[in-house]
Amino acid sequence: TTSSPFLPIKCGRVEEINTQEENLTKPMPNLHIMDPKLLQSMVYDALVWSSLHGLVVGDRNIQRSGKVPGVGMVHAPFALLPMSFPESHWRQACELAPIFNELVDRVSLDGEFLQDSLSRTKKVDAFTSRLLDIHSKMLQSNKKEEIRLGLNRSDYMLDEQTKLLLQIELNTVSSSFPGLSCLVSELHRSLLNQFKEQLGLDSGRIPGNASLSQFAEALAKAWKEYNNPRAVVMIVVQTEERNICFPQLCNTYDVSTIRKTLAEIDEQGVLLPDGTLLVGDHAIGVIYFRAGYTPNDYPSESEWRARYLMEQSSAIKCPSISYHLAGTKKIQQELAKPNVLERFLDNKDDIAKLRKCFAGLWSLDDSSIVKDAIERPEFYVMKPQREGGDPSSGNNIYGDDMRKALLRLQEEGTEENAAYILMQRIFPTIAPSLLMRDGICHKDHAISELGIYSAYLRNKESVIMNEHCGYLMRTKVSSSNEGGVAAGFAVLDSVYLT
Ligand code: ADP
Ligand code: MG
Ligand code: MG
Repeated sequence: TTSSPFLPIKCGRVEEINTQEENLTKPMPNLHIMDPKLLQSMVYDALVWSSLHGLVVGDRNIQRSGKVPGVGMVHAPFALLPMSFPESHWRQACELAPIFNELVDRVSLDGEFLQDSLSRTKKVDAFTSRLLDIHSKMLQSNKKEEIRLGLNRSDYMLDEQTKLLLQIELNTVSSSFPGLSCLVSELHRSLLNQFKEQLGLDSGRIPGNASLSQFAEALAKAWKEYNNPRAVVMIVVQTEERNICFPQLCNTYDVSTIRKTLAEIDEQGVLLPDGTLLVGDHAIGVIYFRAGYTPNDYPSESEWRARYLMEQSSAIKCPSISYHLAGTKKIQQELAKPNVLERFLDNKDDIAKLRKCFAGLWSLDDSSIVKDAIERPEFYVMKPQREGGDPSSGNNIYGDDMRKALLRLQEEGTEENAAYILMQRIFPTIAPSLLMRDGICHKDHAISELGIYSAYLRNKESVIMNEHCGYLMRTKVSSSNEGGVAAGFAVLDSVYLT
């Protein structure tokens, strides 16, 4: 044990999970054959750094954590050293961000496209159906969102064989971890500097990451567009929030924020005749959803009433119901069909850039693809219309489970297949890495997913912000052929450009 109050008892233990021969990934040294003493000091320093700089999350093992801020914190799971990533693909991902922002905005304006594309899904997926109901009420009342704010994150994997950067999905709601991702980049830079002699790595190759402050800036700018100095920014939170966000709105921009759960909004919310949303005593200028993206966030009718109330109001919603729907997996698959992008974008270069990063995406209506997926399940992923499948309890279906699910759907011949899409399985490069969780360093083979945050703000015809805003690298154990799902866990990571 140790006497330092900051350090978990198990600090510095290094667990071997998987010790196969592996190739050196240049210019990163082979992390699995690092000098144990060096490793030990890096682990120790990284844990101290995390504690001192707030690279922490609520610890589920501690009862009051998540209820009382600052109580029961543990370091966020992170990779000890950054993951190599080719600079050209990095640039490509950054360049795509404003194009995807624009696409989401255009799609959100096409109510008919959203309703039509999701019409079959609506019949079998109760959650999507509720979102669509609110959306159609807004269409009927001819409600227009003149000020639109998107805080999105587009996720990619780099397919090893084809060397293509392929999009996994586009998140338009509750794009998580902007705060922690910045800290991991800083942690890695600090370790690379501190152990420069031993590692021989250049901290300048880790791109700067200001996702949190850029998201805060976008929220503040949106608040300004709303143009009511007394209005506040409301963050919709889950009842137990383990990711605290946007403290700097108040410090940097003099904008007040309040946090409310959907149930509280239902209880305290009132809509004034001019469209102003009042919650308690506060007029709401901007609403940021850290909750509301999964059916679990709506345990009763109360939460749905709150969502509907907010949508009817003049507050700027991040996301609006149409932005939310535009980011669903079914829409992703519809957009990948021939000639659909052309419906929304004019610039041919932009269209080509987007299409280049689209993996194979299919509806389950496509019987030849379903047949192939049953025969060769290892090349596909089956995805429900859901968000927030974390690696340990993922929503996606792989391998033999997918084959069985497809066979069952085929046999039953029901509409249920509209609740899913099929996607080409992407196989990123597997690299040795060092994953930190609960104060323990695990050596394992891992794959990474790069998320690029982006902000979009427009008021009628004027685009005020449209840019990429930092990144999130997530690295997860690759040993399971279920895409790492069964095996385990993902950690926050950063990028080392090569
Ligand atoms: P969610 O909205 O739940 O995050 P995702 O589409 O991002 O849904 O899928 C969850 C995880 O599954 C991803 O983070 C990624 O690790 C894995 N995954 C998703 N699609 C693919 C794919 N086509 N190939 C390989 N892995 C995938
Ligand atoms: Mg995802
Ligand atoms: Mg998602």
